[in-house]
Amino acid sequence: MSTLIYTHADCLQHVPGPGHPESPARLKAVVDALQAARIDGVQWRDAPLGTAEQVLLIHTPGYLEWVQSQRPEDGYQALDGGDTVMSPGSWQAVMRCVGAACAGVDDVVEGRATNVFCATRPCGHHAEADQAMGFCIFNQVAIAAVHAQRAHGLQRVAVVDFDVHHGNGTQNSFYEHPDLFYGSSHQAPFYPGTGARQERGVAGNIVNIPLPRGSGSHVFRERVTEELLPALRRFAPELLIISAGFDAHRKDPLGGLDFEDEDFAWVTRELMEATAPSTGGRVVSVLEGGYSLEGLASGSVAHVRALRGD
Ligand SMILES: [Zn+2]
Repeated sequence: MSTLIYTHADCLQHVPGPGHPESPARLKAVVDALQAARIDGVQWRDAPLGTAEQVLLIHTPGYLEWVQSQRPEDGYQALDGGDTVMSPGSWQAVMRCVGAACAGVDDVVEGRATNVFCATRPCGHHAEADQAMGFCIFNQVAIAAVHAQRAHGLQRVAVVDFDVHHGNGTQNSFYEHPDLFYGSSHQAPFYPGTGARQERGVAGNIVNIPLPRGSGSHVFRERVTEELLPALRRFAPELLIISAGFDAHRKDPLGGLDFEDEDFAWVTRELMEATAPSTGGRVVSVLEGGYSLEGLASGSVAHVRALRGD
């Protein structure tokens, strides 16, 4: 079976303004690199629009209404003081992000694909149930996890997040739910300030691996092997969702973890292997951050090659 890649031109129409690091050029770099790589067994799909019902799996009705009301007819509308901004095309873009992640879950659960990569933007893992934050408006990864439970009756779903930033929104949405696992490696101390080792969830269902600046490949692989993979095996998820951020890449201008392309391939393979006995190989990966166009391009190609088993 194939690996599906969801993307959509609407995701280029979310424009947070001149000089903003979360630019449309990011997605163009990812899509161009993946197309140029001509990876065997990859098929492309247009991301569908998500629905309000899907958004409400994680977000409050008041927040959904507020985001809709903030859509500018022209120019920009800041949602959280300047980091997270809406332009006229942002609503369609975020609904494509939600739609792609949920469609990816449908595809792997219903057997239309082995695994899925969502090349969509903006990112989602900082978005809280009732708050935009850190370039994120809706938390498509958290939404997709709960969608897998509600629409398909899966019980245990794991999200693993290797973005350089901690996914506070995903963690908070999962904290009280023992059937939802969140594992994150991230630079610390760093934005957004959450993700300490002692934040463990109601049932040990949260695993945080804070990494000091400059950690590099060796420390990352050691901590993932010793702390994350055993916890993930014990949790035995029926579906694995990856928050795939590439801002831990050594070329990234914001992050400082100094990962190589091969680290993204390695962690992808390790996560797939650790969860395969319980997931049957079902993986949905969703693009999060990454602000070096080169690092994004080469990191995402390494990641998708690993999803293909190359
Ligand atoms: Zn990030």
